[in-house]
Amino acid sequence: MSLPAGSTIGIIGGGQLGRMLAMAAARLGYRTIVLEPQPDCPAAQVANGQITSAYDDPAALAELAAASAIVTYEFENVPVTAAEALAAKVAVYPPARALDVAQDRLSEKTFLNGIGIATAEFRPVDTDEELTAALKTFGGSGILKTRRMGYDGKGQRVFRNMEAGGFAGTCEAMGNVPLILESFVPFEREISVIAARGLDGAVAAYDPAANVHRNGILHTSTLPAGVKVETAEAARTAAATILSALDYVGVIGVEFFVLADGSLLVNEIAPRVHNSGHWTEAACIVSQFEQHIRAVAGLALGSPGRHSDCVMENLIGDDVLRVPTLLAEPDLMLHLYGKAEARPGRKMGHFTRISRRA
Ligand code: AMP
Repeated sequence: MSLPAGSTIGIIGGGQLGRMLAMAAARLGYRTIVLEPQPDCPAAQVANGQITSAYDDPAALAELAAASAIVTYEFENVPVTAAEALAAKVAVYPPARALDVAQDRLSEKTFLNGIGIATAEFRPVDTDEELTAALKTFGGSGILKTRRMGYDGKGQRVFRNMEAGGFAGTCEAMGNVPLILESFVPFEREISVIAARGLDGAVAAYDPAANVHRNGILHTSTLPAGVKVETAEAARTAAATILSALDYVGVIGVEFFVLADGSLLVNEIAPRVHNSGHWTEAACIVSQFEQHIRAVAGLALGSPGRHSDCVMENLIGDDVLRVPTLLAEPDLMLHLYGKAEARPGRKMGHFTRISRRA
C-alpha cells in the first residue's frame, strides 16, 4: 500500500541529505518532520517541523513515531537501538539491519563476502601485536581504519611497505577502539552506484559515477564513469544483490574500487542517499532523493535513466565564494544547504554541470 499524499514522513538527521529528501518529499505531496539536535538545521529549514533532541532520546523517538506515517534516515550512524525501538511502532526504511551491517567495517565486509561480493582483504585489529601480524600477511602495506564512526577518510592510517615491527602505540593513537586493517588496493579509479529497492522488491540502479576525493572528502562525481560496459553492469548487479540480501527498501550508495583489469571490490556501502548521487538531480528525471521517497512511500520507482552527461562538484568551506561566478555559467545547477558558517572541510553545497550525452 502506498502512502497517501499529505502523510508525514519522519527523517532522522537534519543535514543536507535530509534537506534534499524533505524537498523531494514535498514535491510528491508529503509532509516531513526532522529529528535533529541542532536547531535550525539544513533539513528543518525546508521541512514541516523539527524535534530538537538527541537521536536516541526515548521521548523524542516516541514523538517522532506518533507524528510520522513512516520514518527514514539520512545518515548511517543512527543508533540501531533507536531504529529498532521506532520500528516497533512505525515502519522504518531502510531496515535497521542495514544500519547494523554498515556501521561496522568488519560486519560490512563479512556480510559482503558472505553474499559473494569481493572486498579488500581485511583483518580485525585490537592490539599492536595483531597489527604487526596482519601487516605481515599483507606484505607490509595496508590501511588501518576504525571499525565504527569513520567517514570522509577520518580515523585512518596508511602503511606502505613497512618493515615488520615498530608499531607500538599505534592502537592507542587510534583511540584504543576496535580497528580493521585492509589490504592496500591498487585501484585504477573509484566509482559508486546509487540504487533503490521498492517495497515490492523492484530495483532501479543509476549509472556508476567516477569519484575523485580531495583531503578525504568527495570532490567530483563524473558521468559517464569511463569504465567498460561490463564493469558498469557488474557494479549495478552487485548493488542489486546487496539490496535483495538486506531485504532493503530505499536508496543505497555502494562505493567500489575498479582494478586495472576492470574487476571490482566494494569499499563500503551507505544505507542512505549519497553525496556521489547528487548528480542525479541535474542529469536524471528522477533524482536519488525522489527515488528514496518513492521507495519508502511504497510508490513505483522512477526510471534511473540519465538524459545528460555531467560533473558534480562539492563546495567545501570557502568554495562557496565561487557561487556568483558559477551562477554566470549556463547548464549549471546549484544547490546550497542553508549553512550559515563556511568552516574548513564543511560541505556548503554542490553544483552539477551538465552536457549533451555523448
Ligand atoms: P573510506 O573512508 O573507507 O571510504 O576511505 C576513504 C578513501 O581512502 C577511499 O575513497 C580511497 O580513496 C582510500 N582507501 C580506502 N580504503 C582503501 C584501500 N583498502 N586501499 C586503497 N585505498 C583505500
